[in-house]
Amino acid sequence: MEDNTFKNFKKESPRLQKNVLLAGHTTFNIGGPAKYFLATSQKKEIITALRFCKKNRIPFFILGRGSNLLVSDKGFSGLVIKREDKNITLKSGFIIQADGGVALRDLVDFSINKSLQGLEWAGGLPGTFGGAIRGNAGCFGSETKDNILEVEVLDHNFNLKKLKVQECRFSYRTSIFKKKNWQVLSATMKFYKGDKSRLQEIANSHIQYRKDKQPLDFPNAGSIFKNCDLNLFSAKWQEKLNFVVKKDPFPVVPTAYLISEAGLKVVKIGGAQVSEKHPNFIINLGNAKSQDVLTLVDLIKDEVKKMYGVTLEMEVQYLGK
Ligand SMILES: Cc1cc2nc3c(=O)[nH]c(=O)nc-3n(C[C@H](O)[C@H](O)[C@H](O)COP(=O)(O)OP(=O)(O)OC[C@H]3O[C@@H](n4cnc5c(N)ncnc54)[C@H](O)[C@@H]3O)c2cc1C
Repeated sequence: MEDNTFKNFKKESPRLQKNVLLAGHTTFNIGGPAKYFLATSQKKEIITALRFCKKNRIPFFILGRGSNLLVSDKGFSGLVIKREDKNITLKSGFIIQADGGVALRDLVDFSINKSLQGLEWAGGLPGTFGGAIRGNAGCFGSETKDNILEVEVLDHNFNLKKLKVQECRFSYRTSIFKKKNWQVLSATMKFYKGDKSRLQEIANSHIQYRKDKQPLDFPNAGSIFKNCDLNLFSAKWQEKLNFVVKKDPFPVVPTAYLISEAGLKVVKIGGAQVSEKHPNFIINLGNAKSQDVLTLVDLIKDEVKKMYGVTLEMEVQYLGK
C-alpha cells in the first residue's frame, strides 16, 4: 500500500496501525510484522477494509485468535484484519446467532448458561467462531457443522450472501469458506434443551482432558497435521494400525501415533520441538522461528512417508512466503 493510499484509508479507519508484530496475536507466539493492521469489532469497517483492499490490490488476511496459524518471521506485507466482533444473541426458540469474531469459549459459556445443549463438546477449544466455521473445527466426535443452520458470508467480490448449512460444503477440517477464501461474518446455530450443570460438567471434562493430554504450558498451534484417512494406507498397514483407528468423523489413524512410532518425540530444531505429551503438537520452547517449525514439519513428513507411505497434510495455516 502506498503511503497516500494508507493516509486516505486511515481517515476512514483511524484504528489502522502500521508494522504490528503478529507473534503476539498467535498462540504459537511466532511471526514477524504485518505491514498494516486493523483490529475491529465493526462489521461495516471489516467490509469497507476488504473492499478497499480489493480496489487497491492490497493483499489481506483475516485473523481470529491465531490458534491455527504459523506466521512467517518475515511477517505479512499487506493488511491484517483482526476480528474483534463479539455479538451473541439468543433468537426465538433454541437458536443462537453469533459474530464470526466471537471467542468460541464465550459461545460455549453463553449456551450453557442458557441451558442449551449442542456446543458443550467444544469446551477448551481455542479460537473464534468464524475460524471454527472455516476449518469445521471438531473434537470428541463432534464438528462445528453439527450446530450450524446458516452462515452470513462475504464472497470473493465481498458481496454478502447467506448460505444454508448444506451449501457450506463442510467436511473434515474444511468448508466452502476455506476453499474459496470467503469471510464468515456471522452464523446461526441450533440447540436443544439441556441441563445446565450436566452441560457444564461435560465442557469441564473436555477442558481437563486437554490439560492432561496437550502441552498447554508452551505456545503451540494445536495439531500441526490432520489425522490420516485409514484408506490412504496399504492393506498391510491398515491391518497393523487397526487397533489405533478412531472415528474423526470417518476412520482415521491419529497422526500423533505415527509421529511417535517414527521416533520423532522430543526431536528439536532451533526453538521448536515435537511435544512429548502430544507428538502431533510442535511447541515453541521460547525462541522458535517459523523456519524452525517448517524444517521440523518437513522432517516429520519425510520420516512418516518413509515408514508408512502416507503424506501428512498440514492442519495449521501458514501465513507468509
Ligand atoms: C491448544 C490447541 C488445541 C486445539 N484443538 C483443536 C481441536 O481439538 N480441534 C480443532 O479442529 N482445532 C483445534 N485447534 C486449532 C484451532 O483452535 C481451530 O482451528 C480454531 O477454530 C481456529 O480459530 P482462530 O480464530 O484461532 O483462527 P486463526 O488461527 O486466527 O485463523 C485460522 C484460519 O482461519 C481464517 N479465519 C479466521 N477467522 C475467519 C473468519 N471469520 N472468516 C473466514 N476465515 C477466517 C484465517 O484467515 C486463517 O486462514 C487447537 C488449537 C490449539 C492452540
